[in-house]
Amino acid sequence: MFTPKDLVLYDQFVLDTRPEKPELELHESSRRRQIVWAILDSALALLETRQGKESLAMVAERIITTRDKINKGRTKSRQEPHIYTDKLANLPRWIDRFLASMRDHFPLVLISTLTEGEAETKKKDWGSDMRMYVAADAGTLYLNHDIIANMGHAMDQRQAREERERQNSRTRSGAKGKKANDQPQEPDEYQLFKFQMVISVAHELVHFLTGFLTGTAKPNTPLAVTAEPYSTKDGEAGRFWEAQFLGGFVEYWAPELSEGDSPDTLRHPGRPYLFDEGSVSTALGYEVSSSYILDFLRGSRSLAPGHLWETEPFD
Ligand SMILES: [Zn+2]
Repeated sequence: MFTPKDLVLYDQFVLDTRPEKPELELHESSRRRQIVWAILDSALALLETRQGKESLAMVAERIITTRDKINKGRTKSRQEPHIYTDKLANLPRWIDRFLASMRDHFPLVLISTLTEGEAETKKKDWGSDMRMYVAADAGTLYLNHDIIANMGHAMDQRQAREERERQNSRTRSGAKGKKANDQPQEPDEYQLFKFQMVISVAHELVHFLTGFLTGTAKPNTPLAVTAEPYSTKDGEAGRFWEAQFLGGFVEYWAPELSEGDSPDTLRHPGRPYLFDEGSVSTALGYEVSSSYILDFLRGSRSLAPGHLWETEPFD
């Protein structure tokens, strides 16, 4: 299991940015705040594993060497500098420092209806000396309001289900309730959402890592630090990390709405698929296995790129 660590969050770490409720700080005990905390904690814990740190060091090395290469022969005004001055062999130490700053001073988190996708990062210029890095000064993390609300809904459903099960086991004569080894085989809706959000937040933290190495909000990741089929003009360090760490990209397939479905269907998570090659429109995806999701959320030590994906092709 992940070792529990403190996660020190910005004073007003969760704000609700729905238009009708501008910048309302969520109460300490509010469910959404607890849900967000659980996501952030798991995303950090994932990156704090040996494999997580190795994957970040790999991304960092690629960012540094790519920028060095690009800058050769460019005039100063067109350069894309970084602020890493140590030997590449010492990168693991700097990754530790980066992760420790995330634990100690997590950036401001906004739950916003304007967030595109699951999560977004807005980086800030924070300085030029990596020894002085404070994660909270380096940007803001935005989380998708609807997904967090749906997670609250899924949590309600889980509690109602557990209550029903308790009642049933009480009424069964002689039954002693659930056995301890009765571990669920399928992730519930809350866990499916959580898996989605933990990967998304870990992806966003890779954008913070870019900021850690460059000191600035811009320019974005250089071209070469990206991954097919999602290459973009600006580079995508987060996608590059997903390819390194997960062996591909995880996308959620939203539940299909058919006629007569209640709008409530939109409250449900999709199913995660892993894509490892091809263009976005023709890529063959593999459904991520339930046991992988459950192991992942339990913080399985055996998490390793490419090893736990029990792939089932779909068409
Ligand atoms: Zn990204």
